[in-house]
Amino acid sequence: MNVAIIGGGAAGYFSAISVKDNYPDADVIIFEKTHFSLAKVKISGGGRCNVTNGNTSIGVLASGYPRGKALMKKALKIFNTKHTMEWFESRGVPLFVQDDMRVFPVSQDSTSIIHCLMDQTEAKGIACEYWSGIQTLTQKGQQIELSFTRQDLPPRSFDKVIVASGGSPKSEGLEWLVKLGHNIVEPVPSLFTFNMPDESIVELTGVAVDPVLVSIPGTSLKTRGPLLITHWGFSGPAILKLSAFGARFFNENDYTFDVRVNWLDQPNHELVLTQLEEVVVEHSRKLLPNIRPFGLPDRLWRYLLQKSGLSQTKKWSELGNKGLNKLVTVLTNDSYAVSGKTGFKEEFVTCGGVSLDSIDGKTMASKVCDNLYFAGEILDIDGITGGYNFQAAWTTAFIAAKLN
Ligand SMILES: Cc1cc2nc3c(=O)[nH]c(=O)nc-3n(C[C@H](O)[C@H](O)[C@H](O)COP(=O)(O)OP(=O)(O)OC[C@H]3O[C@@H](n4cnc5c(N)ncnc54)[C@H](O)[C@@H]3O)c2cc1C
Repeated sequence: MNVAIIGGGAAGYFSAISVKDNYPDADVIIFEKTHFSLAKVKISGGGRCNVTNGNTSIGVLASGYPRGKALMKKALKIFNTKHTMEWFESRGVPLFVQDDMRVFPVSQDSTSIIHCLMDQTEAKGIACEYWSGIQTLTQKGQQIELSFTRQDLPPRSFDKVIVASGGSPKSEGLEWLVKLGHNIVEPVPSLFTFNMPDESIVELTGVAVDPVLVSIPGTSLKTRGPLLITHWGFSGPAILKLSAFGARFFNENDYTFDVRVNWLDQPNHELVLTQLEEVVVEHSRKLLPNIRPFGLPDRLWRYLLQKSGLSQTKKWSELGNKGLNKLVTVLTNDSYAVSGKTGFKEEFVTCGGVSLDSIDGKTMASKVCDNLYFAGEILDIDGITGGYNFQAAWTTAFIAAKLN
C-alpha cells in the first residue's frame, strides 16, 4: 500500500507517523508545497508550542470547539489530551501543564516538538518531498491520482491519501476539493482581539479583570474569563473565546458591533444593588473613589464612576437611588463599540473549511471520494486558544491514519 499525505504540518506529520504505526509495510510520503515542514508548530505558542490542553474531561474539551464540537466529542474518546501527552512524553519530550491548563514542552521550545516529529518520520522511513504542492486529486478506480502545481513533476497515483493541508483563508483555495464533490464552509478568521478606536477606556491599557462576563447584545454569544484592556481595545481569554464562538457573526457584521461587559461576573443585578446599599450604610461619609466594593482595579473603578456620571467628590451617602442604579448598570451591563479586530500574538485559526457533512466523522474518510481522508485545520473544526487546535490536529490525524 502506498499512502500520500498532503501537507507537512502538525496534522500531516502525525498522520504519516500513525499510518506507519498501523501499517508498518506501507510506503508513506508527505508532500509539502513549501521548502519547510511544521512551520506553524515552530512559531506556535510564542515559540514554545502549546501542544495540547491539560483538561482531561471530554465534555470540557469538546466545549472548546465552536465548530466541530459533536465530532470532537466522539473523536476525543479515541485520542485525547491525555493520549497526546503520553505520545510525546514516551517519545522523549517531557511536558508540563501551566496553571491555565496550557501544556508546553519542559524545554519551553517548539523545536522539541519538531525534532520529535521529524525523528519519528525519519526512523520510520517516511519521506517528505518539498516544493511539491498538490494541484488536483482525481479518483482513478480505487486509486487517487495527484497532480502537482510544478509542471516538471508528473502525476502520481496512491492507494490512500490523507489531506492535511491546513486552513485556507479563502474558499478558492479549496476548489480542488470542491471539484471532487466536497462541500466547503466559507472560511473566516477566528481568534482575535477587539479594536475600540472610539472608546476612552483604552487609556486604561494594562488593566486586567478576572473574571468578567462578556456578551454580544441580540445574540446568545457570551463568555467568561479574564479581560485585558489594551491600547487598542479589549483582549484576554474572555475576548479570544468570544471571538472564536462569534467568528462568523463578527465577520458578517464587518467587525463592527457592541460588546457588553459585566465587570463583576454577576448576572444578578439585585444582588449588586444590595451590596452597594450595604456600602452606603457602612461608608456613608467616604468618597466614592475611596471605597472599591468589588475589588476592581483603582483606575477602572474611577473610570466606571465617571462613566456613570458620578463625581469623584461625591460621598457614598449622596448617591441616592438614581446614582446607585446608574452604578449597577455600568458595573453589570457596560457597553462598548467595537470597530475592527487585531490578531492575537499572530495566532489565528480558520473557522470553516471542508464541511463535516462531506466526511464520515468516525473515520475522517471522504464521503464522496474513496480512499481519501482529512485531518487538521482543513476541516471545519477549530478551537479556542489553549492547545485546542493542535489537539484537533493530533486527534483527527490519529483517526484518519487508521485508513478505515
Ligand atoms: C502564530 C500561530 C500560533 C499558534 N499557536 C498555537 C498553539 O500554541 N497551540 C495550538 O493549539 N494552536 C496554535 N495555533 C494553531 C495551529 O498552529 C494550527 O491549528 C495547526 O498548525 C493546524 O495544523 P495543520 O497541520 O492542520 O495545518 P498547518 O500547520 O497549516 O499545515 C499545513 C501544511 O500543508 C501545506 N500545504 C498547504 N496546501 C498544500 C498543498 N496544496 N500541497 C502540499 N502542501 C500543502 C502548508 O504549506 C503547511 O505546511 C497557532 C497558529 C498560529 C498561526
